[in-house]
Amino acid sequence: MPTKRRVIPIVEKPAEKPAEKQTRVFYDCAKCPGYCCTYALIEVGKRDIARLARHFGVSPEEVERRFTKYDSGAKVRTLRHRKDEHFGQACRFLDAEKRRCTVYEARPGVCRAYPEGKRCGYYDFLKFEREHQGDEKYVATT
Ligand code: SF4
Ligand code: SF4
Repeated sequence: MPTKRRVIPIVEKPAEKPAEKQTRVFYDCAKCPGYCCTYALIEVGKRDIARLARHFGVSPEEVERRFTKYDSGAKVRTLRHRKDEHFGQACRFLDAEKRRCTVYEARPGVCRAYPEGKRCGYYDFLKFEREHQGDEKYVATT
């Protein structure tokens, strides 16, 4: 499983595919507590900031100031975080109770692209732990 300094790098957003051509995936974000939203660095670029600005009806500068910060160690701009009861910290846009993104339509490119394959490592782990515990709501921490 990922270590503490988890980073979602910026990647090109794959072109949208027609629904009938989308390949099957083996994870279900609707049943997950949003583990990937608790990564320490969720990198955002200008396009992400502009999208969020349109979503909130504010300037890009305001989005940058209110919702992002510059991480001098990683040298990237990242979404701000808040405390999280399960994982220690989470993206400030993650609804702490529903475990859902509150800016889903305007979420950054990294969030759209993740996990970039048919499988999500955390979801496989979560499924295994839930089966093992006999609790379909169990929140597995790493
Ligand atoms: S991509 Fe994986 S970790 Fe992220 S919400 Fe979906 S199942 Fe959970
Ligand atoms: S913007 Fe939404 S999808 Fe992206 S990390 Fe934050 S809560 Fe998760």
